[in-house]
Amino acid sequence: MKLEGVFLDSRLGRRIFLLFVLAATVPTMLLSALAYNGWTRFAAAQEEERLTQATRYFALTVLDRLLAARAALDAVELDPRAAPGDERLLGIFRSIVIVPSTPAEGPGEGTRSTVSWLRHAADQVPARVIIRSRDDTTGLTRIAELETNYLWSEAFDEASGEQVCVFAGNGVQIFCSASVDIAASEARPADARTASWNLFLRHEFGVDDWRFTVLKSGGAALRNGVSFVHIAWQVVLASVLLVVILSLVLVRRTTVPLHKLTVGTRRLAAGDYGVRVDVHGADEFGELGTAFNDMAGRIGRQVHQLEVLSSIDREILEASGAARLVRRALARLAELSLGASVGIALIDPATPAQLSCSLHAPGGESCEQELALTPALQAALLVHDGAWRRAADAPALADLLAALGWPAETVYVSPARWREQTLGVLLVSQGMAASPDAAWELQVGELRDRVAVALASAARERQLQHRATHDSLTGLLNRAGLHEALEQAVHAQQSLALMLIDLDRFKVVNDTMGHEAGDELLIGVAQRIGRCLPRGALVARLGGDEFVALVPDTASGHIDEIADELVLHVGRPVMLRGTQIATGASLGVAMFPADGQTAADLLRHADMAMYAAKARGRAQVARFEPALDSAAVEHAVLSRDLTHAVERGELRLHYQPRVDARSGAVRSVEALVRWQHPTRGLLMPGAFIELAEETGLIGDIGHWVLHEACRQLATWRREQVALETVAVNLSVHQLRTPAIVDDVFAALRSHGLAATELELEVTESVMVGDVQGTSRLLAQLRAAGVRIAIDDFGTGYSSMAYLRYLPVDVLKIDRAFVKDIGSDASADIVVRAIVGLAGSLGLVTVAEGVETAAQAQLLTEMGCGELQGYHFARPLPPEALPQAVRARATPAAANAASVA
Ligand code: C2E
Ligand code: CA
Ligand code: CA
Repeated sequence: MKLEGVFLDSRLGRRIFLLFVLAATVPTMLLSALAYNGWTRFAAAQEEERLTQATRYFALTVLDRLLAARAALDAVELDPRAAPGDERLLGIFRSIVIVPSTPAEGPGEGTRSTVSWLRHAADQVPARVIIRSRDDTTGLTRIAELETNYLWSEAFDEASGEQVCVFAGNGVQIFCSASVDIAASEARPADARTASWNLFLRHEFGVDDWRFTVLKSGGAALRNGVSFVHIAWQVVLASVLLVVILSLVLVRRTTVPLHKLTVGTRRLAAGDYGVRVDVHGADEFGELGTAFNDMAGRIGRQVHQLEVLSSIDREILEASGAARLVRRALARLAELSLGASVGIALIDPATPAQLSCSLHAPGGESCEQELALTPALQAALLVHDGAWRRAADAPALADLLAALGWPAETVYVSPARWREQTLGVLLVSQGMAASPDAAWELQVGELRDRVAVALASAARERQLQHRATHDSLTGLLNRAGLHEALEQAVHAQQSLALMLIDLDRFKVVNDTMGHEAGDELLIGVAQRIGRCLPRGALVARLGGDEFVALVPDTASGHIDEIADELVLHVGRPVMLRGTQIATGASLGVAMFPADGQTAADLLRHADMAMYAAKARGRAQVARFEPALDSAAVEHAVLSRDLTHAVERGELRLHYQPRVDARSGAVRSVEALVRWQHPTRGLLMPGAFIELAEETGLIGDIGHWVLHEACRQLATWRREQVALETVAVNLSVHQLRTPAIVDDVFAALRSHGLAATELELEVTESVMVGDVQGTSRLLAQLRAAGVRIAIDDFGTGYSSMAYLRYLPVDVLKIDRAFVKDIGSDASADIVVRAIVGLAGSLGLVTVAEGVETAAQAQLLTEMGCGELQGYHFARPLPPEALPQAVRARATPAAANAASVA
């Protein structure tokens, strides 16, 4: 019996066992003790009774013998000479004498006979017993001595260990079977029992009673007692043994299932969901075992489902792709629907006419195929939300099942939807081993929902991926996508040519015709580039008007041909919104692996080659070579550095005073940006503004300038520097974003300036492109009080007619005219006309680039309102300005202005 482990291990088992053993042994022992006690007492009483009986019997036997002896004696012939020859007397009497009766010898009164005893010595036992019998008719007395044997022998059972003593009336012992005097208690053994009986002799023999005492040593009773104890012990032991066995059986029946259940529960708690307990039977343990197994099974299934779902979730998070995910879901679906064919049909929103199916047949083989998703099939698949559909009811469904090779007539269709979009359908054929119930539908539903989320996430991932690597305008690869492709090619050691194409006059188109036209042009260019390239080539747009073509290098001459063709085609004039536009293109080529080992190197070198091509003139192709034109390299490097200039705080503002033409006092300043380059020193706007506009950095730079200029004017206000306004140059790019209005107001507000203290200088180029939008922005600013100045007035190609409706306060006459006045009559005419026109429109005129006193005087005479130029002051760092303003505030200075 495999008991030990269980029994010893189980505390409950030990407790029950001990309880049983105690419950059995204690009463048994107690009962035994009581029984033993009662039994010994009963036995003693019995013994005593028996002994008394024996004593009585012995005494009566002796009496009988005495009476018989007397009768025999009485029958003896009274002839004294006659010998006692009677045979019958032999054995009874030792001797008989007949004597004449004497009163002295006669028996006591009333009796004719008497019995007496005779001892020669005090210790003679047995004593000699003598009977006298008087014959009153003859006057003779018969006296006889009895044979000892006759009287005493076989009168008691010597074999039973009994001893008997007989005492005469005076207490003298006349017979004793033992050598000791049993009447004396000290001579008796401790366990001896005695019984006495008084034999009444007075009536027959006229003497006192003889006392019979029988002694029995206790051995027999004791022996009986011992055997009783022995038996009692055996009974106790047997019953205890029985109890032990029974209790062990019971304990085993209780603790073994309990142990199994405990172990099972522990294992279940430890996550072993496959655990089942081997506890059967019709009792509660059996029920518990069945319930436990059911529960473990259910928990296991649920945990498994959760695991699969969470593994799907994990894959959603890890974005490990829809394919793996669908495989996982399929496996789970097959597990849920044992015996049936299962499938997941994927509907790609990008190509809605196509349905790819992943199917698991019950045999385990799987197939993946693409099928046409006809509208009828779509209707058959998509309208039902987790329902059994009969193929017979929907022919399209029947066709699908036939195409899949499913013989099923009924199929469970459960569409995986995400935000109203169906991304896939779970399919289960009929013929499942277990009939589908609500729990099954629930689990399939859960799975389907995860699949929906997973597919949506995968689709979004793909979309993001596409967006991250593609240019939204042209659909080409973007910079990141190009990098990726380039890295791959480099990794694969696939020799190729990297061609960087830059449009020559794109900025002009963009500025003059607006962004939309610019976008149109870029799309056209992208298409034309694509048409020039061989199969296997990739095109990317790096941003702005820069394109890159990755062309597999088949033969070197071939590459040159392609490059030339690209420049030719891209540079060809196109019609854009009714205008013929000719944007030339410059192209730089870097070869892999000859010109660089990494994607970054290759791009940089192609960039250098492209700048070299630009430097050679328009519409040129240049191949990278180590000794490329340093100016082109510089341009490339500079544009890279500029991207960090704002965040690194490398920009500065200098301020050039504008003086009142009449008084010579400084009325305002123009903020002019400078770039404190870490290695090249202080750079002028000419070196980087165009670059900033090309790269779009002008937005950040302009924002910084605006806020910095406002901050500075506010500072000067606090320092009592007498300035009316600060003028800030706005790039046309800034005016293309409506946010500029808020930005201007924010700058004013945050530095506590009034709108009238700010002047914004814009060039005439704002008059082309989206004129209405720009004028609306300017009008908004002007309405708030901000002054608007047209910078470089007269250099633009537009007519002056716009001045009528453009919200403007100031005209800044370009230096080109100012430079020539006094020496070139036509310049004088133009300036005079501008001043006149401005006056008639109520605008202030400011002359720029006034370098001489003569120019200043002439301009003053022409009616120009304010003057600005080296003649008065160069652009000054902010700390130098207060001094310059104060110097010009004196009347002398004013004089100097007008006189000089
Ligand atoms: P601009 O707005 O026409 O600015 C006047 C330019 O003429 C300044 O050149 C100034 O130093 C120069 N100048 C002033 N007086 C004289 C003179 O008497 N003789 C000569 N020869 N030149 C004179 P700068 O500072 O190099 O600025 C060049 C251009 O950069 C500016 O032309 C403006 O278009 C642009 N710019 C400057 N700062 C900013 C700015 O913060 N934002 C934008 N968008 N453009 C700016
Ligand atoms: Ca300006
Ligand atoms: Ca100017």
